[in-house]
Parts: sequence; structure tokens; C-alpha cells
Amino acid sequence: MPAIGSGKESSTADRPDTPGLVDRFGRRGKDLRISITEKCSLRCTYCMPEEGLPPIPGQNLLTPAEIARVVEIAVRNLGIEEVRFTGGEPLMRVDLAEIVRRCAQRVPGIPLSMTTNAIGLQYRAAELADAGLDRINVSLDTLDREHFARLTRRDRLPSVLAGIRAAAAAGLRPIKVNAVLMPETLHGAVDLLGWCLNEGVSLRFIEQMPLDADHVWARTNMVDARRLLSVLSESFDLREIERDDPSSPAEEWAVGGSTGTVGIIASVTRSFCSDCDRTRLTAEGTIRSCLFSDQETDIRGLLRSGSSDHDVAQVWRSAMWNKSAGHGMDAEDFVPPVRSMGAIGG
Ligand code: SAM
Ligand code: SF4
Repeated sequence: MPAIGSGKESSTADRPDTPGLVDRFGRRGKDLRISITEKCSLRCTYCMPEEGLPPIPGQNLLTPAEIARVVEIAVRNLGIEEVRFTGGEPLMRVDLAEIVRRCAQRVPGIPLSMTTNAIGLQYRAAELADAGLDRINVSLDTLDREHFARLTRRDRLPSVLAGIRAAAAAGLRPIKVNAVLMPETLHGAVDLLGWCLNEGVSLRFIEQMPLDADHVWARTNMVDARRLLSVLSESFDLREIERDDPSSPAEEWAVGGSTGTVGIIASVTRSFCSDCDRTRLTAEGTIRSCLFSDQETDIRGLLRSGSSDHDVAQVWRSAMWNKSAGHGMDAEDFVPPVRSMGAIGG
């Protein structure tokens, strides 16, 4: 289990009295990721164990009303500027549209997005757009059906493709496709980029991080950004685009002969921790400031025991103040976090 505190035990004596979510290293939290479930329709080998994650008892999951309240506190009290739903797989929650609708009503104008594997999205895209969802990121690593089935342990590629097209038709744009880089994904990277350019969706490759539930990640067999770039450059004319937002983790390239781009999130080899602007809420209602730190702060208890918005915000500020400087992957004594990516919310 991660170390769960109430937020009162950490030192904030030197924290300036500002309303925003600032930390000791001068970073400000602006981007809130909310995991809404541990359940998933896939079992990607770099994320989930084959049997799935241990189920969270229903009463421990935040309800739509609680999620909407947290979102309002995050925006009004703490200066959060965008909210993304994730998991596990957000589409596994039957009340997803209600969650989105309640949040959209509480914080009109704040961008609401979702990271999803898109399975079943073809039947729900219109309802989600109507509820107030603005855009989506879809995880898709390969267009090779057999390879997809091996990597995700489920033969569901057609459903993902149908979901992407339905999302585009419902106006959930821009659509970004995220592909985790693995030795197997490298082989199909050129095809995947060609398909995304054709469909008018942008593609970003992500270096695989040591956040797999099976703990088999090893730097030595990781595919890095440099290797991918050399493979893509053999088939595409790539021109690097200057980044205007330093907190955006993706480096981007324009693809010659098209209006599209391709991005690479080199989370391992080119760490962007010093510009990190994220804060996370787990499905059970704990605040987690860094993917790689097991330190979590419970706010579900506060929400359910009559605490004011002001008190919840104060606990969140303390948690953020103590955010770690970086992921620490380069340290000799690096130990991956207890929770895997699917259990934290990527
Ligand atoms: N199920 C949804 C999905 O796959 O989009 C949302 C949750 S998933 C944990 C969020 C993101 O984390 C996905 O883009 C996925 O590819 C990424 N991810 C999972 N495990 C990862 C790892 N070990 N390293 C890098 N990214 C990872
Ligand atoms: Fe599920 Fe997303 Fe993890 Fe794949 S990456 S197992 S789709 S939570």
C-alpha cells in the first residue's frame, strides 16, 4: 500500500501564503488528473497484471457528486486550469456521463478531457460530448491486430478504431493518440503515424516508464525517443517545432507533406519534472502529487465528514508543497512506486 496521510503530518512552515497549488521548487499545479476507476477492459502488459487490479470496494470510490465537488474546489480555490479523467479505464464507469455533466455544470469553461482506450466509445461518444466532455486522448500502440491482442491481452482493436471515429464524429476534438514505446511498437510506428495523419488525429509516442504492475521494466530493453526518431525519419520528413508551453511534456515534429505533427514524450530519457504542473486524485480519493512518490493524502475522509471546501483546499496545498523534485529514476537506489500506472491514473 502507498503511504496515506491526512496532510497534517507534513511540514509547510515555509510555504508562502498563496492560494495556488505551489511546491518548494517553484512549480504550480494547473493540470488535475482524476482516476475514476481501477477497472479496465484491457490488460496492457506495461500497465496491468493479467488478472486485473484488486477491486476497490464500491463505497471507497468517489461518487459523481464528490468528484464534482473536488473539481470545483480545485478550480475555484486552487487555480486548476484543466481536468482530465483517467483510470483504469474511465469508460468502465456506467456513470461517466453523469460525472462529466456534474463537473461541467460546476466549473463551466474549464476544459474537461479523458484518457481512454476507446473500447465501447462508439456507443457513448455523443452522450459524453453532450454532457460537456471537450476532448479525448486515446491509447493505441499498434494497428496490427495480432500484436494488439498480445500487448493488451485482448483482441479488441476494431472497437478502438470504431471508438476513435465515433469520437471525431461527435466533435470530441482534437483527438490525440498515445502510443507507449515498446520493442514491439517500434516495428509498427511508421504505419501508426501514417494512419493518424490520414485520420486527422495527432500521435504522441511515450517512453515506457517503470510503472508496470508486473515490475519487468528494465532500462536496458526500453525503446527510447532517439531510436524511435531514427526509425520515423527513414520514412517521414520531420521538422522539430519549438515548444511554446514548457510544461507540455511532448516534443513535437511537423511531418513534411502533411498538416500533421508527431510528438514524443521522453519521460525517461528527457525528464520534464522541473516543469511538471500536475496533481492527481486517485479513484479512492487520495491526492497524489507525483506518479513516482508513494506519498498520498486522503481527502475522501474530509469530504465525508463535513469538512469545508477551505479545509480540503488547505490539505491539498500542504500535499503539493511537499511534492518531490523528480521521479528519481536515475538514482542507483531507485525503487518503482507500489502502485502501477493503472492504479494511480496515468
Ligand atoms: N485506460 C486508459 C488508457 O489506456 O488510455 C487510461 C488509463 S492509462 C493508465 C493512461 C495512460 O498511461 C495511457 O496512455 C497508457 O498508455 C499510459 N501508460 C500505462 N502504463 C504506462 C507505462 N508503464 N509507461 C508509460 N505510459 C504508461
Ligand atoms: Fe487499461 Fe489503460 Fe492500463 Fe491499458 S494502459 S491496461 S487500457 S488502464
